[in-house]
Amino acid sequence: MNSSVSGEQLIAIAHEYGTPVYIYHAEKIAEQYNKLKNAFSGHPTRFFYACKALTNINILRYIKDLGASVDCVSINEVQIALKAGFEPGRILFTPNCVDFNEILAAQALGVNINIDNISILEQFGNKFGHSYPVCIRINPHIEAGGNYKISTGHIDSKFGISIHQVRHIERIVKTTNLHVQGLHMHTGSEIKDVNVFMQALEIMFNIAVNFPGIEFIDLGSGFKVPYKDDEHETDVDSLGARLTEAVKEFEREYNRTLEVWFEPGKYMVSECGYFVVKANVIKQTTATVFVGVNSGFNHLIRPMFYDAYHRIANISNPSGAERIYTVVGNICETDTFAWDRVLHEVREGDMLVFYNAGAYGYEMCSNFNSRFRPAEVLLKDGKAMLIRKRDELTDLLHNQIEVL
Ligand SMILES: *Cc1c(COP(=O)(O)O)cnc(C)c1O
Repeated sequence: MNSSVSGEQLIAIAHEYGTPVYIYHAEKIAEQYNKLKNAFSGHPTRFFYACKALTNINILRYIKDLGASVDCVSINEVQIALKAGFEPGRILFTPNCVDFNEILAAQALGVNINIDNISILEQFGNKFGHSYPVCIRINPHIEAGGNYKISTGHIDSKFGISIHQVRHIERIVKTTNLHVQGLHMHTGSEIKDVNVFMQALEIMFNIAVNFPGIEFIDLGSGFKVPYKDDEHETDVDSLGARLTEAVKEFEREYNRTLEVWFEPGKYMVSECGYFVVKANVIKQTTATVFVGVNSGFNHLIRPMFYDAYHRIANISNPSGAERIYTVVGNICETDTFAWDRVLHEVREGDMLVFYNAGAYGYEMCSNFNSRFRPAEVLLKDGKAMLIRKRDELTDLLHNQIEVL
């Protein structure tokens, strides 16, 4: 099965709700989750959806009903997850460089907490001792991921406590009687090679040996999904089989049990998302034919921010002659979605779709140029439902205080 939404369906939704619009296909999220669940069915494994990819509360509720847990990186995400109905035990808080008060707030809400800084670990241990279990985020310094900006494991990374500081951790655990329940790592996004995960697992095992209270190892994310035609997603079946074998061996050797946790973001919601825009103008310059669409990096920042590639199609003219275009936005800043892209002939007024728009799409949008943020629509059981209204002028002025 490979769920997808047809061009006609996307056009019908875009006509009803206007453009630009983000459309999410619920069944695709279920398909991705079920692939993960099946791949790791041989060992107790929990999936915490990394909700920073897409936090619309309807998406959170849908994912909760699938049976997944949720990973949050801010106290506000924790609050939204609670509002969506996740019980505190199904929420993992993985912040970075936040004020200690934010960690105290998460503790008061009873959620799982991941600590990624020695000084915070010490403060937490001094305050709670053995009474509140924590997970420690380790930086194993594995170079992985699609792009330096989304790779978090390198030596200069601000994430996690360096693997070279494990003795510091041990001292704090001893002096504060801290209850370390889990070890976490997240080396980056878009890791295709299963061996990287296995290497990470080995490193975690080596640390776990010294912490007898550890009940789970959280390997973060890094699951890759295809953005280009010739790309493939992480082979989760192969990873599941190899990982299950390795964990079982560890359990036998040390007579312990270890759950495995993951935090998939993109894997869950990237492909469910379609971002539909309208071609405002075709602009021929001396060297290039531009399609200027009614959007920009204020709505989808990944191409400009990460050099990310998003497949684009002209859904209004799917059998038109193929031509080469540079697709740009309408904001006053260099704003290129794609250079020299082959598209079926684009006419002014045609609708274009960006694929893989579910993860880090709407979530990273802004009101730059005083443009409205797009609407969001959920397509579920064949029915399209508006789940976020497009901004209006009042939204742009909403928090402004007129003192002059
Ligand atoms: C962003 C993030 C993830 C999700 O990464 P994806 O590449 O979207 O799967 C998982 N865990 C943590 C701690 C993160 O910050």
